[in-house]
Amino acid sequence: MKKRSAPAVGNDFVEILDDRGEREVAPDPGAPTWRLLIVDDEPDVHSATVFALKDLIIAGRKLEFLHAYSAVEARRLMEMTPGIAVVLLDVVMEKGDAGLLLVRAIRDELGCVDTRIILRTGQPGYAPELEVIRDYDINDYKTKSELTRTRLVTSLTTAIRSYEQIHKALESERAMDRIVRSAPALLTQRNIGDFAEQALRLMAGLLGDDAADGVFCTRRLPLGEANGEAPLYIAAALGAYAPFKGQDVAAIADAGLLDALERCALPGGRLHENNGIALCVGAGDSRALLYLRVRNPLNDMVRRLADVLSVSIAAGLENVALFQKLDFSAYMDPLSGLPNRASFVSMIDDCLRRGEANRTVALIEVDHFSDINAALGHETGDQLLKAVAKRLRDGFPAEVALARVSGDKYGLLGEDGRVDPGQVLALFERSCVVDGQSLMIQPYIGLERLTEADGSGADVLKNATIALSRAKSERRQQWQYFTREMQTTAEERLELLHDLRHATEAKRGLSLVYQPQVEIASGKVSGAEALLRWKNDRGESIPPDRFIPVAEYSHLIIELGEWVLRSACEQLGEWDRAGLPGLRMSVNVSLVQFRDPDFVGMARRCILGYGIDPRRIELEITESMALSEAETVVDTMNQMKSFGVSIAVDDFGSGFSSLGHLQRLPLNRLKIDRVFVKDLTAGSSGATIADTIVKLGHMLGLAVIAEGVETGEQLDALRRMGCQEVQGFYFSPPVSAADFPALVGKRL
Ligand code: C2E
Ligand code: MG
Ligand code: MG
Repeated sequence: MKKRSAPAVGNDFVEILDDRGEREVAPDPGAPTWRLLIVDDEPDVHSATVFALKDLIIAGRKLEFLHAYSAVEARRLMEMTPGIAVVLLDVVMEKGDAGLLLVRAIRDELGCVDTRIILRTGQPGYAPELEVIRDYDINDYKTKSELTRTRLVTSLTTAIRSYEQIHKALESERAMDRIVRSAPALLTQRNIGDFAEQALRLMAGLLGDDAADGVFCTRRLPLGEANGEAPLYIAAALGAYAPFKGQDVAAIADAGLLDALERCALPGGRLHENNGIALCVGAGDSRALLYLRVRNPLNDMVRRLADVLSVSIAAGLENVALFQKLDFSAYMDPLSGLPNRASFVSMIDDCLRRGEANRTVALIEVDHFSDINAALGHETGDQLLKAVAKRLRDGFPAEVALARVSGDKYGLLGEDGRVDPGQVLALFERSCVVDGQSLMIQPYIGLERLTEADGSGADVLKNATIALSRAKSERRQQWQYFTREMQTTAEERLELLHDLRHATEAKRGLSLVYQPQVEIASGKVSGAEALLRWKNDRGESIPPDRFIPVAEYSHLIIELGEWVLRSACEQLGEWDRAGLPGLRMSVNVSLVQFRDPDFVGMARRCILGYGIDPRRIELEITESMALSEAETVVDTMNQMKSFGVSIAVDDFGSGFSSLGHLQRLPLNRLKIDRVFVKDLTAGSSGATIADTIVKLGHMLGLAVIAEGVETGEQLDALRRMGCQEVQGFYFSPPVSAADFPALVGKRL
């Protein structure tokens, strides 16, 4: 232990007191200081040092003195106190090498690499070796007698300046490290709100103020057509701005902030203020404006680092935008900009989960949309879908959710009273003008009240679909609410399909009936339409209107249709052999059959197999079929036509045919839908349509037949119009093959 009696060093300090040069301007009382740790076992050295340095200002800051009287104490103090700029260290304390051991601990164990160390010793003989000075990064070594005040100040000033530089470099290294380490986390964010908050917090941390006020603003992503110039909104906010999260930026009445954002609004824009920054990160769709106001002034290094971090933020933002776009395509319909089926189902699910039972779901179908699409082209079809979306959106308040559920179906979800089918119908009393054409839309609506729902959103939508098809098939009114009774129908349909499959495989319970087609001019039977009948194993006759749609849906119609064509050809051969005049045989064909690649081959084999002249066979296709998927259907039609088979459009007039399209089809006959025949009184709309169809037929060089003719008046009206043939109960209902020959002798 050294003796505590002070050497003459004190005199040195005292001596220099008068020696003070120019003084720096005094800093604010609250301004940061330089921390100076005096380590010496002699109290006098402490007081003399403080006395000599107490008013000193270096680089704008005062000194703050910390005192330790032993190496152990010094170490403890250093452990507890961050930011010690300089240690004035006595080499010889408890032990001869106590000071040097402390140096080692400071560097190696405490890891304080920026703290500067000035060694002082009373005895020149204790000078550490050169390697020690080098290895432990010691700033200065002075014997106490050498340390006059001037020298001490000089030495301290140099040490503090180098501390400041090293400290900054270290800080920037740490900040860089933080930026580099935070980048992957920024890149994994999917949600803009979370991402924006994380980015803001990182930036605030980098600027050295975790309690900063800040906003992260962006336009709502992704930018759909509709919201190209969406207003800037606050995706995340910190500090004083936190309550504004989610709002438009204009909601913050802070002229300084708005001005800063405006000034750096373009890509690459940045604005550095004394204690804040505004940055524009990213470009294009994924661009954001970030503003932070901090309590401490920012230095150049921090600003440069902020630019580096903003590159990471831009990359992360681009990622988030990509995720948002993916989400958008998973939950939005790009054509109409409306939520799609998946989001509609989840909206219903949300209502069910929240127990909001007083809600109704409506499913709206644009009737004959596929016909319109085929007749007028996909572009017009798309325009129409958008127009319908707009009509619906404008027609209901914002609280009623609207979605495009599938091609031609829209969904509404809202309070019971608000989702009103009558209102939907009223919306479409006016035509939709699309591409300069005015199109009348006939909507069909299936509804379900959530009070009656059990199950999930998908089940509700399924029930609404069942109600919709009921509305379409009954056509009494254009809408239906789902009832349990319909549910059993759906289950029955499954059972029906099961039975029908058995019947088709075993060819059991199936038969054909034939309805004569009569030429008006001669009154003679010219042909027969084969109509399928089915009696199930329980002996119940199932009407074709019920089982044909099921057979089509399940594709069983391919097999069933083949059986029909085969049986009809076989029958025609039998009648020929029985001496009946050469009649024409009409057979109904579904779209599903027409799409089957083997259809043409199958038809040829059937017809030729029974030795029938193909010109005596006519295929009846529905109008919507003639118009949909034009390419494949027209191709099949052409192949059949060149084989010799003729083609009639069944139920004509109810669909949506354009003249141009009809002209392109290889048709032979139009068959007027019986709904128009029913209403053939003079001046009625049915009469006008029937008349138009006859004229259209003449114009296109096609024969015209009317179906469903039940009365003499109807027949007369058709005759006057110039319709060539009729079919209907007036002459005869469909009859069995055995009863048919008797009708051939009958006259109209
Ligand atoms: P469709 O081809 O339009 O057949 C005419 C329907 O009108 C037949 O009903 C027929 O019985 C009925 N009908 C005939 N005359 C009159 C009348 O004067 N008044 C009234 N109100 N109705 C009359 P059906 O047999 O019940 O067939 C219904 C539909 O089922 C057919 O309509 C056709 O689309 C389809 N269908 C029948 N057999 C087949 C088949 O073998 N294959 C395919 N794909 N569809 C078939
Ligand atoms: Mg028919
Ligand atoms: Mg028909």
